[in-house]
Amino acid sequence: MSGRIEVSGITARGFHGVFPEEKRDGQEFVVDIVLEADLSAAGVSDDLADTVNYAEMAALIVARIEGPSVDLIERLAALIAADILAAPASRMLVDAVTVTVHKPQAPVGVPFGDVVVRVRQERAPVPVVIALGTNLGDRHAILAVAEEAIADRVCAGMVTVSDYVETDPVGGPDQPDYLNAVAVGWTRLAPSTVLRVLHDIEADAGRTRSIQWGPRTLDLDLIQYGDPITGTDITSTAERLTLPHPRAHERGFVLVPWLDADPGASLRVDDEVIEVSSILESVDSSGVRAAAAGDPGEALDNTTGSCGCGGC
Ligand code: AMP
Repeated sequence: MSGRIEVSGITARGFHGVFPEEKRDGQEFVVDIVLEADLSAAGVSDDLADTVNYAEMAALIVARIEGPSVDLIERLAALIAADILAAPASRMLVDAVTVTVHKPQAPVGVPFGDVVVRVRQERAPVPVVIALGTNLGDRHAILAVAEEAIADRVCAGMVTVSDYVETDPVGGPDQPDYLNAVAVGWTRLAPSTVLRVLHDIEADAGRTRSIQWGPRTLDLDLIQYGDPITGTDITSTAERLTLPHPRAHERGFVLVPWLDADPGASLRVDDEVIEVSSILESVDSSGVRAAAAGDPGEALDNTTGSCGCGGC
């Protein structure tokens, strides 16, 4: 379930316009917004924390209308779109925003109904790190399909995927070894949408959520969203989506393939940004081995074997 939140008719007095009298006397501006966001969590939880507070958005818009004067309503619309996408209240959820600015008292010089400018702004692309794991079924085929789905549905066509690693299960009941990998790419989707798409890809692989840390056909975790070095990363302590992933820094089966996919990777651990290569020095990764099938390209070509080893 994706969705839209629409607020229309947000009205305030501003001093925007090309003419000196517009900057001196001001006039009424009216703004409508459409927020594109995944609303499925709020639909289940009935919790304001899982959606966008439209009153906060409206307050931002009024502040921008009443703020420093610009010449063009095109500029005003672009500034409002940027304000909305950067707001703490929306940055976990909103994939894109459409802003419509009306200037009904514009100096047109003839009778007219309204002057309207509308812009749609998506989020700027940011890096994402996604961990993949499977220990049931044809593991190589399952990871290969998941890689393609992540590329298509999260990263607009391109990801870099590590070599597959074979790993001992950590925690949970007695279960078969895992095949793990890490995918790094860029996305324009909001963190909540990325998580929902990852859950959809897991479901497509036949995953049902039962025993915690039990065997699974496919597990996809969002490890990091944004770049902690440039400060574009988003952090969250919400149970539904914790960012960065709260256990990534202690898991060899995430860190080893991540370093393979991105040798310069860094991870935010508490308030510190640390190179993944340094974190790995103090993490026990003895249960992580190179997978028999070699790299993912080979794995893609070796998915017909019924034993799941990828080499049949
Ligand atoms: P899983 O390990 O896939 O069974 O996920 C268990 C729960 O962890 C799910 O309900 C997710 O909503 C939640 N979760 C919290 N943070 C994350 C994250 N960074 N990546 C994936 N799942 C997460």
